[in-house]
Amino acid sequence: MWFLLVVVALLGLAIGSFLNVVIYRVPQGQSLVAPASHCPHCGAGVRNRHNVPVLGWLVLRGRCADCGAPISPRYPLVEALAAAAFVLVTWRLDDLDRLAGLPAWLYWTSIAIALAAIDLDCHRLPNAIVLPSYPVLAVLLVAPALWQQDYWPLLRAAIGAVALFGGYFALALAYPKGMGFGDVKLAGLIGAMLGWLSYSALLVGAFAAFLLGGLAGIVVIASRRGTGKTPLPFGPFMITAVAVALFAAQPLADSYLRLTGL
Ligand SMILES: [Zn+2]
Repeated sequence: MWFLLVVVALLGLAIGSFLNVVIYRVPQGQSLVAPASHCPHCGAGVRNRHNVPVLGWLVLRGRCADCGAPISPRYPLVEALAAAAFVLVTWRLDDLDRLAGLPAWLYWTSIAIALAAIDLDCHRLPNAIVLPSYPVLAVLLVAPALWQQDYWPLLRAAIGAVALFGGYFALALAYPKGMGFGDVKLAGLIGAMLGWLSYSALLVGAFAAFLLGGLAGIVVIASRRGTGKTPLPFGPFMITAVAVALFAAQPLADSYLRLTGL
């Protein structure tokens, strides 16, 4: 297990480095492969030895090696976040005895980080990331079901995808200013991931998004940083709610049942 955790931590650093490219280039419609990483200030290419996740930024002390322009601390933060998330997700799936879903969950974790960052930056959830993720996650969830001859998680994933897509679709029609169709398309993916876990995860994840979004709205108004009309991107709350459900759905569902005496 320790060996697996070290492997996914290193994988997380490498993928986090790629996610920085995705977060920066996809909203601008740029290619992910060319040109190679360069300083946006002076255009100088990033040297290989400085392209090492987190360490490269630390060695350079957050400045371009050529022109000294500051490099955003978000780059090493995204890399460290991806590595930490990969480790936690792997540890949790092992704890649940559901490691067969690891490829699907690591893929989800990767796009979730990219989508949350892009939504915070420019209030968009690009189709270029969301739509191809439907077939990718379908393959990654169907494969372990075939391998283990256990089709219930897959059925729940399909039900979850349809339920959340449908629910958000209805919301987007009812409140077009509050909910965008980017959120609707993301909701289908989230429903699949949560449903694959369990029905309690699906419920907790669906409600936690609105709870977190509502709390954030109250904080924004209370801190006078905006009014009730300040648009908050909803994607990051939907994505955070998935993490809440992955780690806390079972304890939350249990304590709710105890409280209600069921
Ligand atoms: Zn530079």
